[in-house]
Amino acid sequence: MSFTDLSIAKEATIKPIEKIAESAGISRDALELYGNYKAKINVDLLEPAAKLGQVVLVTALSPTPAGEGKSTVTVGLADALKQLKESVVVALREPSLGPVMGVKGGATGGGFAQVLPMEDINLHFTGDIHAITTANNALAAFIDNHLHQGNKLHIDPRRITWKRVLDMNDRALRQVTVGLGGPAQGVPREDGFDITVASEIMAVLCLADSLEDLKERLAQMVIGYTYDKEPVTVRNLGVEGALTLLLKDALKPNLVQTIEGTPAIIHGGPFANIAHGCNSLMATQTARRLADIVVTEAGFGADLGAEKFMHIKSRKGNFHPDAVVIVATVRALKMHGGVAKDSLKESNHDAVRRGIVNLAKHVETIREFGIEPVIALNRFVTDTEEELAEVIGWAEAEEIELALTNVWEQGGEGGLELAKIVKRQLATPNQFAHLYDEQDSVEEKLRAIVQKVYGGADVQLSDKAQKQLVELKKYGWDALPICMAKTQYSLSDQPKLLGRPEGFTITIREIIPKLGAGFLVCLTGDIMTMPGLPKQPAALNMDVGEDGEAVGLF
Ligand code: ADP
Repeated sequence: MSFTDLSIAKEATIKPIEKIAESAGISRDALELYGNYKAKINVDLLEPAAKLGQVVLVTALSPTPAGEGKSTVTVGLADALKQLKESVVVALREPSLGPVMGVKGGATGGGFAQVLPMEDINLHFTGDIHAITTANNALAAFIDNHLHQGNKLHIDPRRITWKRVLDMNDRALRQVTVGLGGPAQGVPREDGFDITVASEIMAVLCLADSLEDLKERLAQMVIGYTYDKEPVTVRNLGVEGALTLLLKDALKPNLVQTIEGTPAIIHGGPFANIAHGCNSLMATQTARRLADIVVTEAGFGADLGAEKFMHIKSRKGNFHPDAVVIVATVRALKMHGGVAKDSLKESNHDAVRRGIVNLAKHVETIREFGIEPVIALNRFVTDTEEELAEVIGWAEAEEIELALTNVWEQGGEGGLELAKIVKRQLATPNQFAHLYDEQDSVEEKLRAIVQKVYGGADVQLSDKAQKQLVELKKYGWDALPICMAKTQYSLSDQPKLLGRPEGFTITIREIIPKLGAGFLVCLTGDIMTMPGLPKQPAALNMDVGEDGEAVGLF
């Protein structure tokens, strides 16, 4: 029989969530049950922590469309640390239904390194993402109603920047017209949809550290401009209280477990290519209160999620990672070495050698931040000894710590070598430094990311972005960190430039201020904030069995 993530998850023994909470030192009072295996944590009722745990950030090289096993290694590493008798909690993002139904799959790890109940987590979980969709669209409704009811704030319908959202890949909704049908149906205007995980409310929820902070951030969000081109905020509309009410439970982190019973906090899920790419600050900080070591993940390669983890998330939380793991696979290295996507299963150690340049750049990037990374070479059954030896030999020659991991097949046991190296890194203080200051000019901040993280030559702004920059400066919004929206496939802004491109210039198409989240989104290349579904979406394999259980969910 062939194993799938779903079949392995179904065979696993799952413990009542109270038991997991107990093992993490969460009192029954602080636990709000969502069925038998999921709970929200009321952080206000947690015992005060004597100290906060250390943070291990798991990132990757530039991935293939299938993903390189970051979530899998994150879970497997946490299980391995638990096997070594460490106090550990894993913190992950909530999966979005866009990739679940599309091509990439869920985000609950894989094989014997998964979080449970995988079916629930991948579908509606505890409803957080639906709550975010509802709050976002409630705000859109309040804006349209304001226009319809006399428009006291003089909002220019052509300059409304707030979009509606849906947690699905739905290209048909990228641009829509609303308010059609005559005066009783509202004011006609152009609108559009983003995917929920790219919404500012998702970012706000992931960066807020309390209910008050959440409300203040929501109040600061800019929804558009008046006829005099003055910004209009949620505070001007007076609906921050209603939005906070819709989100009050979604702000509480969710507790689940790995197959090996390690506590897992899964909360918030912004994409890393079009948003900031890390689970919520509340989740990571809660995990740090509960355990000595927190293993967490940032989306896609180190050029995206990890850069934003350092410059946005951990900066807001006033901490930095104590160790960084870079996940690499032979298949991604072959892709960077020039092998076509449908031939990645064929052995080709020359291509692996050629592709190592991509991994080398991500290692350099983490070193730029003052942290010595560890490579986790995530082993697939199709990898040959020659291919693995190419990577292991290179890492040895370059004096980079590397562990061959097999957590997909073996769970925590397959990550013990990695866990031992990570423990050594945690015992050695690093020399962490940001690559830019928030006070630097926008151009300087962009150049720092392009040159030091992407390895590019320079950055240029489109005419539209230049005009937006002038506006930003006028309103004093330029002292915010940057949230790049860039393809995950290449270090550059062109998805087909694989390996380690050099001498390229990144073009910033648009700069969108997100004052609630507290960053400037810079759009590059063709990156879309509402993805589309592929020709053969994963949804085609899905069904429900006679027992009411999921079929075909990977
Ligand atoms: P990422 O977090 O990098 O996107 P995931 O951990 O979600 O990647 O893994 C993507 C898919 O690849 C999952 O379906 C997972 O089961 C599978 N996978 C990961 N590692 C392995 C492995 N070593 N062998 C086989 N399948 C794997």
